[in-house]
Formats: sequence, structure tokens, C-alpha cells
Amino acid sequence: MIEIKNLSKFFSTENGDFTAINNINLTIEDGDIYGIIGMSGAGKSTLIRCINLLEKPSEGSILIDGQDITVLEGKNLLTLRRKIGMVFQKFNLLMQRTIRDNVAFPLEVAGVEKKERLQRVDELLELVGLSSKANSYPIQLSGGQQQRVSIARALANHPSLLLCDEPTSALDSLTTNSILRLLKDINRKLGVTIIIITHEIAVVEKICNKVAIIDESRIIEQGYVSDVLLNPEKEITRLLLERGELDE
Ligand code: ADP
Repeated sequence: MIEIKNLSKFFSTENGDFTAINNINLTIEDGDIYGIIGMSGAGKSTLIRCINLLEKPSEGSILIDGQDITVLEGKNLLTLRRKIGMVFQKFNLLMQRTIRDNVAFPLEVAGVEKKERLQRVDELLELVGLSSKANSYPIQLSGGQQQRVSIARALANHPSLLLCDEPTSALDSLTTNSILRLLKDINRKLGVTIIIITHEIAVVEKICNKVAIIDESRIIEQGYVSDVLLNPEKEITRLLLERGELDE
């Protein structure tokens, strides 16, 4: 379980402190596919970057199974990061490496020996349906296939949590559906908890069981997708349902 308690992040800017996330409280249960939806600039990426400690929160705590991760440093921080996979909007693959070597990369960094590494990469490529592309380079793959590679890479070290930052925003709607199906399969088969950031309601409707709506750095509404979408309390949630997305 992940418990985010009173989490804030301030950035110092020329015009003084800017509050990118403001006193956020969220509980994510094991096995959830938790959607965080909001407009551009609402604070979604900052929140996700705090969860994997790419940003150090200014205030508050993040408990994973009861342990506050915001105090971790050095080796303990590296161990934690290995247990959190990350999927990005623009895939972030290494263009000079083959698909096999892209997926192997986090295993190399973790010091996994070659035989085990190759075996794990084969398993992962099979999981994402790309065994036949092991020797190809990213440029030879479609956007959807590249995102599959990045999902395989994110799962390499058996994470218990997968953070997805707008994973389908660079994809067309058919490809979006197949990537969302893959994420749902991974959640079911491997029991990986997923947090997915998006500005599109369709993503939440298709795969999330819970959702939080973030607006101007604060969570304004949260709960089971069925409850929040059927009985929206806030104007911004109603707008979201009308428009389908929150990016204007
Ligand atoms: P979203 O992912 O919802 O689009 P972000 O979390 O990227 O929003 O950004 C939230 C706000 O924080 C934005 O106004 C952004 O300009 C600001 N911000 C993000 N990172 C920094 C930073 N390193 N320094 C100053 N301001 C930042």
C-alpha cells in the first residue's frame, strides 16, 4: 500500500516560491490501477516524480508498506527505485541499442549476470509480444511497439509499482487501446500496482479502478472511478466528462 500524506512540493523561482503540489493525500492499495487526471500544469508529473523520488518532496511523507521513502538515501534509495518501474510519454528508449539491449539495460545496471539477463529479457519481450523484434532498433518500430519495449524495460527488475506518465498521449486511439490492454494484463497477471497520469478521461474509464482529479496543485476529488464519474462533485470533473480531456 502507498500512503501519500500531506505532500507538498515548492519550487523556488525568480518570482518567489511556486507550489507545484499542495498538501496532497492519497492512498493507493496493492493491485490498484490508479488514474491521476488533470490539466497541463496541474502538478501531475511533479507528483509522480515525488513518488519515485526524482524530486524530493518539500513537505509530507510517502509510505510504501509503512516505510517512509522520502528519508531514503544512497543504496536504500537505489533499491527502492528498482522496485518502481517508470513508463514515459515519449518512450525514452536508447536509440543506439537494440530492443533486447534496451530491455536488458536496467538489469545491467542492477548487476544481473548475463545468462539470467538474457533469459529475463526473453520473458519480457514475450510478455509484450515483441520476441520477433529483439534484434531491431527502436527507429524500426512503430510508436506502439516502442511503448511496449519501454513497458518491458520498466518491468525488468520485477517492480511492485509501475508509474506511467501519459503513456498513450503520443499514440493513436487504436494503439492506445492495445497499450491500455497490455497494462491491464500486466496488472492482473503480475499483480503490479499501476499509477497512471493522464489528461484523457478515456484512459481512466478503460483501465483504472480508482481516480484522483488534480487541479491547481491540489486533489479536488478522488475515489472509485464508477462513483467519481457517475456523481462528480466538482465543476472541473463535470467539464472533464463533457470534453473527454483536460488540456485546454
Ligand atoms: P503537469 O504534469 O500536470 O502538466 P507539472 O507537474 O509538470 O504539471 O508542473 C506543475 C507546475 O509546476 C507547472 O506550473 C510547472 O511550470 C511547475 N514546475 C514543474 N517543475 C518545475 C521546476 N523544476 N521549477 C519550477 N517550476 C516547476
